[in-house]
Amino acid sequence: MSLLVKGGTVVGPTGTRVADVLIEGEKIVAVLDPSFSPTITVDEVLDASGKYVIPGGIDAHTHMELPFGGTAASDTFDTGTRAAAYGGTTTIIDFAVQRTGEVVQDGLAAWHAKAEGECHIDYAFHMILGGVDADALKAMDQLVADEGITSFKLFMAYPGVFYSDDGQILRAMQTARENGAMIMMHAENGIAIDVLVQQALAKGQTDPIYHGITRPAALEAEATNRAIALAEVAQDCPLYIVHLSASQALEKVAEARHAGRNVFAETCPQYLYLTLEDQLGAPGFEGAKWVCSTPLRSKHEPHQRDLWKGLRNNELAIVSTDHCPFCMKDQKELGLGDFSKIPNGIGGVEHRVDLVFQGVVDGKLSLERWVETIATTPARMFGLYPQKGIVQPGSDADLVIYDPNGTTRIGVETHHMNMDHSAYEGVEIKGRVGTVVSRGEVIVADGNYHGRKGRGKFLKRGLSSYLM
Ligand SMILES: [Zn+2]
Repeated sequence: MSLLVKGGTVVGPTGTRVADVLIEGEKIVAVLDPSFSPTITVDEVLDASGKYVIPGGIDAHTHMELPFGGTAASDTFDTGTRAAAYGGTTTIIDFAVQRTGEVVQDGLAAWHAKAEGECHIDYAFHMILGGVDADALKAMDQLVADEGITSFKLFMAYPGVFYSDDGQILRAMQTARENGAMIMMHAENGIAIDVLVQQALAKGQTDPIYHGITRPAALEAEATNRAIALAEVAQDCPLYIVHLSASQALEKVAEARHAGRNVFAETCPQYLYLTLEDQLGAPGFEGAKWVCSTPLRSKHEPHQRDLWKGLRNNELAIVSTDHCPFCMKDQKELGLGDFSKIPNGIGGVEHRVDLVFQGVVDGKLSLERWVETIATTPARMFGLYPQKGIVQPGSDADLVIYDPNGTTRIGVETHHMNMDHSAYEGVEIKGRVGTVVSRGEVIVADGNYHGRKGRGKFLKRGLSSYLM
């Protein structure tokens, strides 16, 4: 089966040009000057004139079916990857979980069992380490060597659940420095946050907004700074700060990057668009929809401006979603009368490509940075490049034909995620995902779905391209 994507403007990290993309089977075999294409015979032609042709999105941070706070994220690998496909994402990297006291490989096996035969798009795993001990350190080596898992996430938050102390973090970083893995960090000072949470609850401050107020930016910045220092002590172990939300934390990352350190960070659409006051502070219990950690930040401070700037100048490398949806009914409602019991997470895997494109429309980001932050850099960062993340010969034929003249209206009536509300209800994007191709197969065309559960493959990843 051969496919020609004709007349589109191909966007990559190094620029844009009008070109035709020739696909044979699951691979891109040529990116052609359009004058050359008439000499070729193909099985099918997709007209992309007037549209952008971009590499399929890679969401490097999702939590399908994650158990949290007595419930589990409401998207399965089936529903979540289908929704991702609708939104122009053709690869996710989800987080397998080692709970405290569990054997790392058992946690990984459990995640494979959840995902296998369920995914509509390709998928890979990071590994959450919830209990760093001698066995877990050995397991890190084995996962890097044999399992295609080359990144490990640790938590400075959530004492008693996933929390690692500084000694555990340092040991994991030293091991990563040896085997080439990336350490990913949830950087918030969870010990101090727990004190603030108890104090708020004791004063009767139980509404969702107190979730944000008890997780101040200073405690994100402090933990970010501490993680950077520990990574320096571990011979500059590669460090990736997840879901960075505060200007003060970004300053720490920027400082380390300017010093030439192996320090990277991502942010998420919720921090670029939503705020403590307008969403988390919504009347009654509605703010529960936006309870996530790190929390949404105040609109009276320049966080959003700084995050967009960070994306422009590569202080922030990637936009991921931290997709971790919970319905209001029976799930977020667990925290009625006590914000600390609201499951943490926002669903957004379907909207990332659009929401970051809106930054291009608004003049905050170039087309090239759009593609870099949603596809190319995630591939490079997490050992999937050049198989994924770029439209070039030899790469997997994962691409999106994106219509800059279309519009997308986001809402619970039209989205495909398994959620009873939308975090972005009513938001309108000046752009639209048209056709989505995954390994040479058209899985979405003009809003119609042609994919199927089980076609997505597990991807064993290599080491980060940015490893020094
Ligand atoms: Zn997460």
